[in-house]
Amino acid sequence: MGFDLDRFADPVDPDLKCQLCSKVLEEPLCTPCGHVFCAGCLLPWAVQQRLCPLRCDRWECPPLCTPLTVALLLCSCLEGPETV
Ligand SMILES: [Zn+2]
Ligand SMILES: [Zn+2]
Repeated sequence: MGFDLDRFADPVDPDLKCQLCSKVLEEPLCTPCGHVFCAGCLLPWAVQQRLCPLRCDRWECPPLCTPLTVALLLCSCLEGPETV
């Protein structure tokens, strides 16, 4: 599941929050429809439902990928903005 918001000194960008657990993305995975969720939140859902938790179009096959930009943003958030 995601990181608690109180682990971040600054307000977290809504784009970096998981809409399943409402926390900050942990091991973000990008769906074919462009939504991003924690791996721990998305995978159980994806295995069972074979569709986006936000009810987007059904996935043809589940090519989940880690969005590099989100991962990089999260790294900079966790380390604190001063270190950038
Ligand atoms: Zn989550
Ligand atoms: Zn979607």
